[in-house]
Amino acid sequence: MSNTTISPQQGNKKFLQKLEDMGVDVQACYQCGRCSAGCPITEFFDLTTMEVVRLAAYGMEERLLESKAIWLCAACETCATRCPNDIDIAVLMDVLRELALRKGVTPAEPRIPTFHQCFLSSIEHWGRAFEVGLIAGYKMRSGDFTGDMKLGMKMFSKGKLSLRPHPIKGKAEIKKIFSGKGKEYER
Ligand code: SF4
Ligand code: SF4
Repeated sequence: MSNTTISPQQGNKKFLQKLEDMGVDVQACYQCGRCSAGCPITEFFDLTTMEVVRLAAYGMEERLLESKAIWLCAACETCATRCPNDIDIAVLMDVLRELALRKGVTPAEPRIPTFHQCFLSSIEHWGRAFEVGLIAGYKMRSGDFTGDMKLGMKMFSKGKLSLRPHPIKGKAEIKKIFSGKGKEYER
């Protein structure tokens, strides 16, 4: 981020309001760096967590939605736990991913949202993750036919992957949630 020049005037006020509505107080950040120091996958990010928070405080929505970091974040909450100002960076990352999808921004790591979509389809259809179906759907959509093949074969040989989905109770309730008629959506 060293070449990026930012100023508060450039900020997107609607974006800042959205963060405020979600209870993410990015303005409280004093750049201590504890979040970045604790993030287990920071070395793969193009922006550190501290930089994500600073750009958010400046309302630099566009730059954030184009970043790899928002897709690579594993939502482990380590950063939020370490923040002395209780800034929930995992929620911030969630909001950014959601905004990127809604605004049609091409994901910097396209395979990750593809995997998320396949995972959710699996839950919607079976009520829980059906791994073999999920993997097949992901491979078809991503075009990544050979990735993790060895690992998959190993898991299969150890009986960790079932060729049939396991039935669960309450599948209808889960379908309702996805259709927007579940209890959570009635509030
Ligand atoms: S730990 Fe909290 S206050 Fe410190 S840099 Fe990260 S977000 Fe800012
Ligand atoms: S929630 Fe995301 S940004 Fe925070 S420590 Fe975990 S992986 Fe890193």
